[in-house]
Amino acid sequence: MAQRSLTPEERQRYARHLALAEVGPAGQQKLLRARVLIVGVGALGSPVALYLAASGVGTIGLADHDHVRLSNLQRQIIHTMEGVNRSKVDGAARTVSALNPDIKVETIEATVDERNAIDLLDRYDVIVDGTDSFRARYLLSDAAYLRRKPLVHGSIFRIEGQVTVFVPGRGCYRCLYPQPPPAGAIEESENVGVFAALPGIIGTIQAAETIKLVTGVGDGLVNRVLLHDTMAMTFREVRYRRNRACPVCGDHPTVQTLVDYDSFVMEART
Ligand SMILES: [Zn+2]
Repeated sequence: MAQRSLTPEERQRYARHLALAEVGPAGQQKLLRARVLIVGVGALGSPVALYLAASGVGTIGLADHDHVRLSNLQRQIIHTMEGVNRSKVDGAARTVSALNPDIKVETIEATVDERNAIDLLDRYDVIVDGTDSFRARYLLSDAAYLRRKPLVHGSIFRIEGQVTVFVPGRGCYRCLYPQPPPAGAIEESENVGVFAALPGIIGTIQAAETIKLVTGVGDGLVNRVLLHDTMAMTFREVRYRRNRACPVCGDHPTVQTLVDYDSFVMEART
């Protein structure tokens, strides 16, 4: 693609990236041309969207079906009082545009599911998982692999979080977790507590990995999952490999199209 030269305002806005050997003008051009989809504009999606917008990712897709509630504001830092009871994607788009009016924001006010995921993912270069359910995590991982898109995974639970990057052919969420947890193992409920700054830590790492994927620099969190405990303030790295028996990305895949993820998760629980 032909490169346009940066405007004087862009040279000011991105001066600290331009001065950095790891990004520089070439990396900044890649960011400006990039299309990144953030699925879930809540606790994790907030810092991801803010940092990607600030760093000049040219097109950001924001997908979420939900409305902002007062209880979200404790950790979902892209939302404000003005947005309460209103659409999350619209509120996030307003914040992102106020931060960086030069970038394009595409809002998808819908649940990403087996009917729309493939078409949606096809429109973007990198996918960021900011969702909060096992149904969505397996769906996004399968869809990202089937469409050969890198997926920046993050999840949080109470005081702990984890983050990794799935690059097609080098392992997927099913390689890491072949089955969803059984009923009662991990509660998925709005009543589960979340330490306020935890999603900021995990989401910011997701943003950093996304910027690295787009610019092609550094060692990505591929084949390793970073586990974080906010109370102990520790980070532990666990390595994993592509599972050759994985039903999706293994040597003899049996899942070659999206499945019914509600049933998939429910079956593991009964
Ligand atoms: Zn796999």
